[in-house]
Amino acid sequence: MRLLLLSTPVGPLGSGLGGGVELTLHNIAQELHQRGHSLQIVAPQGSQETLPLVGISGNLQVTAQTLERDAHISLPTNSVLANIWEYARQVEADYDLLVNFAYDWLPFYLTPFLHRPIAHLVSMGSLSLAMDQVIEHVAIQFPGTIGVHSQAQADTFAFAKQCRCLGNGLDLSRYQFQTVPNDFLAWVGRIAPEKGIEDAIAASQQTGIPLKVLGAMPDPAYWQQVCQAYPNAPVSYEGFLSTQRLQQILGQCRGLLMTPRWVEAFGNVAIEALACGVPVIAYRRGGPAEIVQHGKTGWLVEPDSVEGLVQAIARLDQIDRHTCRQQAEAQYSMSAMGNRVEAWFNDILRSAN
Ligand code: UDP
Repeated sequence: MRLLLLSTPVGPLGSGLGGGVELTLHNIAQELHQRGHSLQIVAPQGSQETLPLVGISGNLQVTAQTLERDAHISLPTNSVLANIWEYARQVEADYDLLVNFAYDWLPFYLTPFLHRPIAHLVSMGSLSLAMDQVIEHVAIQFPGTIGVHSQAQADTFAFAKQCRCLGNGLDLSRYQFQTVPNDFLAWVGRIAPEKGIEDAIAASQQTGIPLKVLGAMPDPAYWQQVCQAYPNAPVSYEGFLSTQRLQQILGQCRGLLMTPRWVEAFGNVAIEALACGVPVIAYRRGGPAEIVQHGKTGWLVEPDSVEGLVQAIARLDQIDRHTCRQQAEAQYSMSAMGNRVEAWFNDILRSAN
């Protein structure tokens, strides 16, 4: 296949602003390239990527999760999103399939106007009325072209049955299994309100177990506000790290805390932790609830219950770290993900012809 992969317009690849989409896009591209497909990635200028990449200039898009449910669709002047899709229009004849990674209105709206089929990998659950509507139109007009990461994510949409669930996968050779942890916990992700870091910090304060925080910080004022609310919590911010550094620190942790307020579409960080042998404590909501095997590879906790987190932390020693790594190997390898994605693309091409 000749594939054109169109990235998110909220930030350059490698910035962390795109959240899990950045790693997902890289891993899918890597695996399909390995399988002999030819591909080109199109992403905002300044992106870091070892695979073939075209950088597109323009102003970034505001992230959808910061907007109200009834927000209007908006684009800045000289929009990088519009520029990326203008580029797609110019070169589409050289490709068999376009793959959209942007959770934005424009690529869905443009779908009937382009000549090549488009696979849309939707990275978040329902957030806005305008997005729901435009995605649903595509789901009905082009059946089978909407991919999601978890059933819980699909279920946030009225058109759940039209979604193809693809999970996700990792290059497990990049994550080292670590048998013996140090006495600290980890919280990994974008430091943003929908990720609920406050609860992890509250649990760290109650248990006295240090918490290492890793991830992009789009809004430092929010982080300051959270830290001020828990002045005695033993928390350290480690920065936004490369996968290499991330897995080193994460692998040393007793457990990863996942405390999302929203329906997390998947939660790449859950499978990254498992790959290092780190049990995951997560709220029983969204993608993590489909990943964590309660009592085997972590604990699922009543959503928004700090007390539940504290109780689960006390039971971390009951989880065998080998079982965590084994789950990652069985379900979230690059080849398992590649098989699912390749089959999806083949089905789309078959119905387009
Ligand atoms: N991440 C990273 N460095 C860090 C912290 C996080 O590269 O220091 C990456 C991590 O590998 C994961 C992403 O940030 O791919 C977070 O994605 P996730 O699916 O957990 O949540 P999202 O941000 O998409 O809601």
